[in-house]
Amino acid sequence: MASARIQRWALKLANYSYTLQYRPGVQNGNADGLSRLPLATSPATVPVPEEVVFAMALLDGTPVTASLVAKWTARDPVLSAVVRFILQDWPSQVGEEYRPFHRRNNELSVQKGCVLWGSRVIIPVQGRERLLAELHDSHPGMVRMKALARSYLWWLGLDLDIETTVRGCTVCQQHGKVPPRASLHSWEWPGKPWYRIHIDYAGPFEGKMILVIVDAHS
Ligand SMILES: [Zn+2]
Repeated sequence: MASARIQRWALKLANYSYTLQYRPGVQNGNADGLSRLPLATSPATVPVPEEVVFAMALLDGTPVTASLVAKWTARDPVLSAVVRFILQDWPSQVGEEYRPFHRRNNELSVQKGCVLWGSRVIIPVQGRERLLAELHDSHPGMVRMKALARSYLWWLGLDLDIETTVRGCTVCQQHGKVPPRASLHSWEWPGKPWYRIHIDYAGPFEGKMILVIVDAHS
């Protein structure tokens, strides 16, 4: 994180190979002198630097990648054992900590070192806080957070963790309510035949397409 001025300097200096050396202020009189010397002609306005840097603040957290999850998985004592069980075979007796995984046994797979339950990535303890923060980004509220999580990730107690996060967040408490669903508006029944028809193709059925027309009245 640096001001636009510092970033301009960084860009400029990126062309050179250099070493930085610290010099205390008292020994830096030449630089001070140069920046404070009166100019022969003073400009009417403060000159704008030639290059424009669209300074983009660094994201608070870089996105979580598959290789990161794989690294966490390898370090997690339970999950790394689960990986082994999936790839080789489950033992006939498993400890309490493996039960939640053993129960899902048929739906578990390993992909690039990550454990998947169906299409959801199982997140080791190490990454949970970060992913909760990512799910919570923009304060979508409990329902949306759970829905989002459901399509991508899972861990034991995920729902509870989401609930705790949302309950502890004042912004979510104030704004996280899901707006009421709009009530369904059904087609009105037409008063006479052939007033409104619904048409669609069905098939191919035995090599033929069937054009289906439904008269809404009859
Ligand atoms: Zn929130």
